Amino acid sequence: MSAVLDAIETKKFGGELSEERIREVVEGYSKDAVPDYQMASLLMAIFIRGMSYEETLALTRAMAESGERYSFPGCVDKHSTGGVGDKISLTSLPIVAACGAPVAKLSGRGLGTTGGTIDKLESIPGFSVDLSEERMQRQVEEIGLAISEAGDLAPADKAIYALRDTTGTVDSLPLIGSSIVSKKVATGAGHLLYDVKRGSGAFMKTTEDARSLAELLVRLSESLGIKASALITDMDNPLGSAIGNALEVRECVRFLVGADVPDDLSNEARHIAVSLLELKGIEDPEEAVEDALSSGAAYDKLREFVRAQGGDPNALEDLPVSDEVREVTAPEGGYVARFGASEVGRAALALGAGREKKGDEVDPGAGVEVLVRVGDRIERGEPVARLYGGRNAGRAETLVREALEISEEPVEPPPAILDDL
Ligand code: URA
Repeated sequence: MSAVLDAIETKKFGGELSEERIREVVEGYSKDAVPDYQMASLLMAIFIRGMSYEETLALTRAMAESGERYSFPGCVDKHSTGGVGDKISLTSLPIVAACGAPVAKLSGRGLGTTGGTIDKLESIPGFSVDLSEERMQRQVEEIGLAISEAGDLAPADKAIYALRDTTGTVDSLPLIGSSIVSKKVATGAGHLLYDVKRGSGAFMKTTEDARSLAELLVRLSESLGIKASALITDMDNPLGSAIGNALEVRECVRFLVGADVPDDLSNEARHIAVSLLELKGIEDPEEAVEDALSSGAAYDKLREFVRAQGGDPNALEDLPVSDEVREVTAPEGGYVARFGASEVGRAALALGAGREKKGDEVDPGAGVEVLVRVGDRIERGEPVARLYGGRNAGRAETLVREALEISEEPVEPPPAILDDL
């Protein structure tokens, strides 16, 4: 019997796969020796029966070792499970680097509502996201911060994820955990913080599910030699006010220069910077973060980083955004109860801020600016959001209207950080 058939038979009856069997199957699938239909059958058996921790670890290791691997053992990195308006990398990482913790981040392009960190950085004129490992090492030594587009990391995960996406096997905890950690192991940072988002705009809808994933991510990472911790953060409402690549970079700059930004963004960026410094063993992390912000060192670090990667730091404060702008107003007065992240994210996507499918062209100047926060008192006719971009503006407006829930009673804003593991 072939390795994959044996694995299917074992898993079908709830048995446990050996590390060797898992490696054989992953290698076989990577080399096209295992056909999609058998791999899909095994994935469905795993989806139904689950996997022990040892099996999950073996799958993570096999996928991490399936391609190129980088090595930045002294560096810190963070990983977000993804959310609407999530600009924590570009706000927290310059702070951390300014505090003396070197950052090497390999990042992807976004698929979904808005771009990933790489798409956001590409909205800066001249910025290059394509660094060799050698150039990245040099930049980390010289300025303490480098972010590059990930090469062919964990290709087995990429192939298996594509198959999961079309066979109803994405939402399995061991498959999600091994998929995320395999890529992080291949990127090679020695200290890693996971920001697991939960809520309507996130992959994990409940705090319990987010906690289970966070615990698994930390445990797998630690087993594979990475010092890791995790936070669970809110994603029922967009983070900060900007959603869309250039709009988000502008908001990051506003935060770093000390201008007014929404509290959820400011609190979360600070909290994540502190957690990263703690992971790296830096003393008095809260004080270090406040000093880096108030002295301007964190913003100087962002400018230094942009210059090092070919971008124009002087363009940062006034990045061009679409001049096709329309305002959405409140249909009635009351208190903002919710500004649904999922709908606002879909509106940004419709305007061209993200990709519906791989290869779609992103409009860096498109997106949504939400002008009110949960708990705010608003009047009928007051502007609640601004839409940027010429594509599908009518559909985007409908989605933003659907996102806004207004209550007659006062509403308490939700906390940005829900748990700290
Ligand atoms: N993100 C990943 O990288 N993998 C998953 O399986 C789910 C989300």
